[in-house]
Amino acid sequence: MEVSRERFPIGIAQIGTALRNEISPRQGPIRLREFTIMDFEFFFDPDQPNCPYLTEVEDDILAIVTEDLRKAGKDNDQISISVAHALRDGIVKAPWSAYFMALAKRFLNSLGIPSDNQRFFEKLPDERAHYSAQTFDLEVRLDRWGWVEIAGFAYRTDYDLKSHMIASGTDMRVFRPYEKPIEKTALVVKPNYQELRTIFGSDAGRVGGLLASADAKKLVDSGGPVELDGFVIPRDCFELKEETVKEAGSKFLPHVIEPSFGVERLVYATLEYSLKMNEDRVILSIPPKLAPVQAAIFPLLGKDGLPDKAREIFNDLSKEGLRVEFDEAGSIGRRYARADEAGIPIGITVDYDTLKDGTVTLRDRDTWRQIRRPASDLLGLVRKIVENGFQSIESMP
Ligand code: AMP
Repeated sequence: MEVSRERFPIGIAQIGTALRNEISPRQGPIRLREFTIMDFEFFFDPDQPNCPYLTEVEDDILAIVTEDLRKAGKDNDQISISVAHALRDGIVKAPWSAYFMALAKRFLNSLGIPSDNQRFFEKLPDERAHYSAQTFDLEVRLDRWGWVEIAGFAYRTDYDLKSHMIASGTDMRVFRPYEKPIEKTALVVKPNYQELRTIFGSDAGRVGGLLASADAKKLVDSGGPVELDGFVIPRDCFELKEETVKEAGSKFLPHVIEPSFGVERLVYATLEYSLKMNEDRVILSIPPKLAPVQAAIFPLLGKDGLPDKAREIFNDLSKEGLRVEFDEAGSIGRRYARADEAGIPIGITVDYDTLKDGTVTLRDRDTWRQIRRPASDLLGLVRKIVENGFQSIESMP
């Protein structure tokens, strides 16, 4: 809070290992006893619950198995509703939850998981943690396991901070200044120091301080002498007065929205949806940004200077930080097939024309289309494909 200069909302994202005592961890990477969670603790002022970025996602459609559907026994039905309408109809309670749910859906889309195979499954009150006001699981349909929870979106209210406050005795509320200080009449305690000195002598200052910071309303209720910090203070040692005081702000306890993602499940789902067949060949159509190797460089043949030229290109690209591979083993067809199966999005082939006019062919893993471009443009072209896909360079002259 200090680092972000007490400006709310504040989000803390972290990734780490989680341990769970799963009774039967028999679903491979889907149910592990030790796995990786990415989660986000997002703190906001409950009096200012609106999300200023909502307009970016308000037309996104979410498929939701609502609490109502589930209570009617229709766990396999769903409604399709825009983010804006889900909030308007109270289906999603917190605007920030709806925002993160929409982003999560887009994130899964970017991993290659289509919208039709994603749904938000609302947890029933007895299924969610007792402190959660509302929880949705983002589920993905997997070939072998059916609908599987990949991420959770819990609205944890102020439960965690409140519990820490109670256990530690530390005030964890946040000061929220008013735009302009407001004037209020309040009951204040006025210690009578003359009286205090006659009774408490050298402790008078301390007792006066205790009185001044005591809760005036409690002193009214007590009527007779009051006891503060072991001092018994007669009623005529202080007065209670209505005064006009300036109030600069108020305090609030932040609420928390917590999106959390299981990394192994994300990886599993991404791999499952990336795995495609073309004719009888396996292609790992992993999004280029995620591909461990971004481009493979192939000399067409292992002679006539082609390997040297290909090696030069390989060195140039890897020096620039691209993840590239050099492969000269086997026929060119076999090398393409190997690269497709390993999910390498771009094949760069050096042939006899390269030696003549400096061009190379670029081959798209997913469509097997090939285009010729100058080798000197490769750095920009590869970066563009990694960012926006192969088609983004096909339209360029
Ligand atoms: P949870 O805190 O239970 O909502 O878990 C957060 C995320 O971790 C879930 O959405 C799952 O993606 C993932 N997850 C939970 N349990 C396991 C497990 N046993 N093995 C692998 N991933 C898990």
